[in-house]
Amino acid sequence: MSPIRQNLQAITATIIATAQESGRSPESVQLLAVSKTFGPEAVLEAVAAGQRAFGENYLQEALDKIGAVQRAGAPALDWHFIGPIQSNKTRPIAEHFSWVHTVEREKIAQRLSEQRPAGMAPLNICLQVNISGEASKSGVTPDEVAALAHKVAALPNLRLRGLMAIPEPAGEFAQQRAPFARLRALYEQLRADGLALDTLSMGMSADLRAAVFEGATIVRVGSAIFGARNYNKA
Ligand SMILES: *Cc1c(COP(=O)(O)O)cnc(C)c1O
Repeated sequence: MSPIRQNLQAITATIIATAQESGRSPESVQLLAVSKTFGPEAVLEAVAAGQRAFGENYLQEALDKIGAVQRAGAPALDWHFIGPIQSNKTRPIAEHFSWVHTVEREKIAQRLSEQRPAGMAPLNICLQVNISGEASKSGVTPDEVAALAHKVAALPNLRLRGLMAIPEPAGEFAQQRAPFARLRALYEQLRADGLALDTLSMGMSADLRAAVFEGATIVRVGSAIFGARNYNKA
């Protein structure tokens, strides 16, 4: 069995076991395979193992890979953009992805909405929240998330689905859970405010169990599926 298939099976088993342990339905957690820095062959291997949702951080690399995977005859895949967004790069994102997890400014959301091609389904959006309050990290502050959420929810070609965060790495389970619990509280508050959200994008290879315990509906897993990334882009 290929290592990628084996890793996908192991991660899926962990997600199922953790969901059950925390009283959740395993189907409520979607696995996003983060394929950044890995080539189209790795994606095709994951596709052969049944994976359909992939996350990418770097636009040009992603566009090349999406094209190569399509030319190789893969079935329809869901591509999620999970990297930082430059405002002059929004058009290809709006044209080639079905989700964007990293919206943190109204201007970017407006451009994505304007540039979403007619005839495509609305682009699914998560707002990235700087949940650990690190000065260097991207994301809207918890104080500002409600105002941004209401603006983004009003844009015509977007569908605001929820919140995303990348907390500061923490070794211990309880410390891993704390920022995810804060993100979930923000999400619940927005829902109570009338926004129809259904997505909490949180948890990566090192902290996915903590994220599932706190209600993650999408976990973004890279190295635990594809192996260690061999260059230091991320
Ligand atoms: C790289 C990346 C991941 C995956 O990280 P791993 O630790 O390899 O699982 C998830 N989310 C984002 C936003 C990333 O940039």
